[in-house]
Amino acid sequence: MDQSTLETPAQTPLAEVRGRIAKAAALAGRSADDVTLIAISKTHGADAILPLLEQGQRHFGENRVQEAQAKWPDLRARYPDVTLHLVGQLQSNKAAEAVGLFDVIHSLDRPSLVAALGKAMAAAGRQVPCFVQVNIGEEPQKGGCAIADVPALLAAAQEAGIPVIGLMCVPPADVEAVPYFALLAKMARDVGLEGLSMGMSGDYETAVMLGATHVRVGSALFGARG
Ligand SMILES: *Cc1c(COP(=O)(O)O)cnc(C)c1O
Repeated sequence: MDQSTLETPAQTPLAEVRGRIAKAAALAGRSADDVTLIAISKTHGADAILPLLEQGQRHFGENRVQEAQAKWPDLRARYPDVTLHLVGQLQSNKAAEAVGLFDVIHSLDRPSLVAALGKAMAAAGRQVPCFVQVNIGEEPQKGGCAIADVPALLAAAQEAGIPVIGLMCVPPADVEAVPYFALLAKMARDVGLEGLSMGMSGDYETAVMLGATHVRVGSALFGARG
């Protein structure tokens, strides 16, 4: 007898998250098609990732170059239409590897990385779309470009030939995210960028209502990370 039939819940976490995104989009008068759900699979192995692939999920995110390099070549051989996103801080000396592996980079946050990625993209002949990560809560311990430095970083990226498609943020933990999402959305509008990478497991519906085009959801899909 097929055990999995008995144990399959009425709704998978993926269906649940997709449903919630659709509801939040409808409330905001947006189309759910304008929101890309990125399944953040960091720390999870192929055994956890494969069920999502089988359910049709194709956008995944990782936060470490090395971990992604170990996991994704095999999975991609089976699912060549996967889009792989880098959502973690990127060291400049890993820029070339990141350009080779990832389809979208969400953590462009400083001039030295602009230089390294610009060089790596030119050398590889591969333009990887990037989000500029903004330190939206002005938290000293956090990655991301200071709000005041965003225009200069965007100019540098353009100069370096890096396609910037939007802004990304991770708001301060344990406080209401709405003002931070709203501020990031306003900043993107002001500089004419359409992409907004914001919203995680605890607040992706709020982010969708405030205009997120990309939500990065880990634990709500995979369960808690050990
Ligand atoms: C881990 C991570 C996420 C996903 O976090 P969850 O709370 O598990 O949904 C999203 N964005 C970034 C940058 C992350 O590092």
